[in-house]
Amino acid sequence: MGDKVIIELLNVTKQFDDEVIVNSLNLQVFENEFLTLLGPSGCGKTTTLRMIGGFEKANQGEIIIEGKDFSDLPPYARPINTVFQKYALFPHLNVIDNVAFGLKNRSWEYLINFYHLENENKKEVKKKINELIKASALEALSLVNLKGYENRRITQMSGGQQQRVALARAIVNKPKILLLDEPLAALDLKLRQKMQYELKEMQRQLGITFIFVTHDQEEAMTMSDRIAVMDKGIIVQLGTPKAIYNEPVNRYVATFIGESNIIPAVYLKKDLVSFMGVDFECMGYTFKKNEKVDVVIRPEDFDVVDLDKAKLIGKVTSSLFKGVHNELLVDIKGTSLKVNTYENYVVGEDIGLKVDPYEIHIMKVNEYE
Ligand code: ATP
Repeated sequence: MGDKVIIELLNVTKQFDDEVIVNSLNLQVFENEFLTLLGPSGCGKTTTLRMIGGFEKANQGEIIIEGKDFSDLPPYARPINTVFQKYALFPHLNVIDNVAFGLKNRSWEYLINFYHLENENKKEVKKKINELIKASALEALSLVNLKGYENRRITQMSGGQQQRVALARAIVNKPKILLLDEPLAALDLKLRQKMQYELKEMQRQLGITFIFVTHDQEEAMTMSDRIAVMDKGIIVQLGTPKAIYNEPVNRYVATFIGESNIIPAVYLKKDLVSFMGVDFECMGYTFKKNEKVDVVIRPEDFDVVDLDKAKLIGKVTSSLFKGVHNELLVDIKGTSLKVNTYENYVVGEDIGLKVDPYEIHIMKVNEYE
C-alpha cells in the first residue's frame, strides 16, 4: 500500500426515496491499497462502491480520483473497472473474446493511446492493435491462472473459472482502480478461500488499488490492508484488520468482527477496571473515575489457570472440539463467557480464568448505537 491518496470521498451522501443510504461519508483510499468495505446487508456498501464507479450519482459530496473531481463523470470516463457478483459474461463468446471485450469495445483513440502507437497507416495499426489485444487478453488469463482455457466456451467453465474470466476481463486494460462487489459470494467455501489468496496475490503483483465489498468478516480480515466497517450508511471504524480486531471502537464492531465477550464494567481509576465483581489491571486507557464502560475480551485471550491462582472461577456449560482448540462456554454467576483453550474440559467442571492486562480492551458505553 502506497502513501499517495488515489481516491477521496468528501461528504458523500446518497438518498433513495428520501431515505439516507450513505450518510456524509468521508474516505481516503491509497494507491495500491486493498481496502474492504465491510458490513451487514443493507448498510450501504454497494451503493458507496457504485458511486465510486459512477453507476450511481451522489446527492451531495465529491468523489475525487487522482486529484480530479469525477463526481459528474460516467463510469467509462473513470480509470476504474468493476467486478460484480454476477459475472455478466457473454455466453456466446469464448473465454478469450470475453476477456478481450474490455479492450475491443474501446475507441480507436483510447487503444492508440493505450498501446502507445502512432496513428499512421490505419490498416497496419488495426492489425497491430488486434495482435496486442490478444496478447493482453492472454496475459490477463495467465494472471488468473487460466492459461490454456482461451478457446473454451463460457458454458463449459465452472463457477470459479467464470469468476476468474470476469477478473481477467476487468484487469485486461490495466485500470488503476478495481472495484469488486462480493465477487466470491457465489463460490463454495473451499474455492472462495483459494480465490481470496489468489486475489490478494494478484492485487500485489499488479499494484492496482482494490476496493472490495463483502459482508464476510473473515474474508475482509484475510485480504485487506484496511477495512472500513460500515453500518447504516456511515463508516464506524476504519483501520487495519489487526487494529479493528484488537481495538474495536464499540459493541457493533466488536461483535461483527470475530468472537468476543463484551462485559459491562466500571473504570475505577487509572489502570484498574472492575467487572464480574473483581478488579482487574488494565493498560493504556483513560476514562473518568467510576465511569461505566464495556470491556471486550476475545475467547483466546483468557488464560486457564489453577483454581487457587484464578481471578474468575466458573463452571463449564459447553465444550466443543474445534480441531486445534476447544471452545468452552463458562458460566460465572449467571454470565456466560466464551473461552478457547487447548486443554480438555468436561461440562460441569470448575475452571479458573485469568486475563493479561493488555488483553483487556475497554470501550465507551453506547458510543455509537
Ligand atoms: P448488500 O450486501 O445486501 O448488497 P449493501 O450494504 O451493499 O447490502 P446497498 O446495496 O448499498 O447495501 O443498499 C443499501 C440500501 O439502499 C438498501 O436498503 C437498498 O434497498 C437501498 N437501495 C439500493 N439501491 C437502491 C435503488 N436503486 N433504489 C432504491 N433503494 C435502493
